[in-house]
Amino acid sequence: MYSIMNDTAVAGVRKSTCTVCGQELTCPAGTAANRIYICPRCKSFTADCEYGYAAITPCDIFLGTDKIGEITQIRVENNIRYRLSSASCGICRDLSEGYADLGAYREAVSLLTDAVSKAAMPH
Ligand SMILES: [Zn+2]
Repeated sequence: MYSIMNDTAVAGVRKSTCTVCGQELTCPAGTAANRIYICPRCKSFTADCEYGYAAITPCDIFLGTDKIGEITQIRVENNIRYRLSSASCGICRDLSEGYADLGAYREAVSLLTDAVSKAAMPH
């Protein structure tokens, strides 16, 4: 799910409100050119990225205030592929989706939110 958040970036901190569930979010503004912010409550995401006119990687992925992963670009037989790495979720895998319609972002967010919700389940 993709949402547009109203946001302001001040002094390295990005404050926004999730337009899907109303959750107030305070996230690091991040240093990568591209950033994905996942709402900790409803798991919708917004992206500050250069989609449409430049590369969408490298991309930092934040869940609330925590950086939980990143997307990098690799080259496989002259094709660009995207790779999701997340130490906290134990994920390092190539994504099957690509640039179009931010498919790689959607796939990465889906993988991460699945991993986070499984980790949060009681054993
Ligand atoms: Zn939300």
